[in-house]
Amino acid sequence: MNWYFTAFGFLCLFFFDPSQESIDVFDRKLKMARNYSTDKTVRIFLCGDVMTGRGIDQILPHPSNPQIYESYMKDAIGYVAIAERANGPVPAPVSYDYIWGDASKVLDNYAPDLRIINLETSITTSDDYWKGKGINYRMHPQNIACLSALKIDICVLANNHLLDWGYQGLEETLSTLNNAHLKTSGAGSNLFNAQKPAIMEVKNKGRVLVFSYGTPTSGIPLEWAATDERAGVNMLQKLNESSIEKVKKQIEQYRQPSDVIITSIHWGGNWGYDIPLEQSSFAHELIDKAGVDIIHGHSSHHSKGIEVYKQKLIIYGAGDFINDYEGISGHEQYRDDLAVMYLVKINPVDGRLVELELFPFEIRNFQLHKVSNIDLKWLRDQLDNQGRKLGTRVKLHPPNSLLLQWDL
Ligand SMILES: [Zn+2]
Repeated sequence: MNWYFTAFGFLCLFFFDPSQESIDVFDRKLKMARNYSTDKTVRIFLCGDVMTGRGIDQILPHPSNPQIYESYMKDAIGYVAIAERANGPVPAPVSYDYIWGDASKVLDNYAPDLRIINLETSITTSDDYWKGKGINYRMHPQNIACLSALKIDICVLANNHLLDWGYQGLEETLSTLNNAHLKTSGAGSNLFNAQKPAIMEVKNKGRVLVFSYGTPTSGIPLEWAATDERAGVNMLQKLNESSIEKVKKQIEQYRQPSDVIITSIHWGGNWGYDIPLEQSSFAHELIDKAGVDIIHGHSSHHSKGIEVYKQKLIIYGAGDFINDYEGISGHEQYRDDLAVMYLVKINPVDGRLVELELFPFEIRNFQLHKVSNIDLKWLRDQLDNQGRKLGTRVKLHPPNSLLLQWDL
């Protein structure tokens, strides 16, 4: 009996080659599935703070005057020296795409429709530093190509470093970004301009509107708030009902049916996983009352727990993506050297989250590197633990990333 079935099986394989047919069918189905998701979802890259000033600026082709006015450090090159003491030489000058390291390719492979960062520096040659603030970030305008190198579409600007080099610095930041064809939101020459969203048309998928807000809890001086007569940032003084109304009104001025609405908020302190109740309530109300689809929160130097509320994504703290903190001790337990790329797929029809992939990198020699398996698992454990309290889980997505899970 055995030889008979074996011979029959062999003949079947020889004549019908079912394996080849099933591979073709599988390939076709996979392509259909990919085309479906590519056609129907909007793919967005989000990250937290991109601090290309100070030490990072010093290794780029056009470093600013290195003088800074910190109590501990008077020369921006000092931050390069600290990084070198920790991890060895940092090359300089580097090419404009150097800082992104492995992230450029990962992002190109993902092919997002939209790339959004929180730009946490002034771009200026101004020497008019904001007195008494202590830390002042600036990048030389001729280094703007480092942002273009990652093909950034939108910079949100309502944060605590935009006016570090005064109003001239703010004006130069806006004009430099504008000349490089990067859209901005959250700062402007007056309140009306600071409140304007950045609007992106995604071909065959619809529009994405990005509104940017700053809050005093993230260290933004109150006098930086834009007014009808004064340039500045789009500020929410408090996370309360009247701010919800304010945001809702601003969104309604610009919203068209089927627009995807992102609210980017710089809020809270730099360290710690705690999510204040006022932030989570505010995020929920933005979704319930103002029709926001994605809350893009940042200010913490490390990633925090993620929530999906009524199928809408809430990132409470996106963490740093580029910083010059390498070798600075004191908060090692938070691993601010791990920079996370948030790769979001959402349904443009109803704004529901379809997928969130988290792609971490390690900042080493002022450059983004793929993380080790140990670090990937460490981050999975952290975000999984923090997410449990918010109803989300994080699992490994081999070989190099993580995936968010949530209840449908
Ligand atoms: Zn900040």
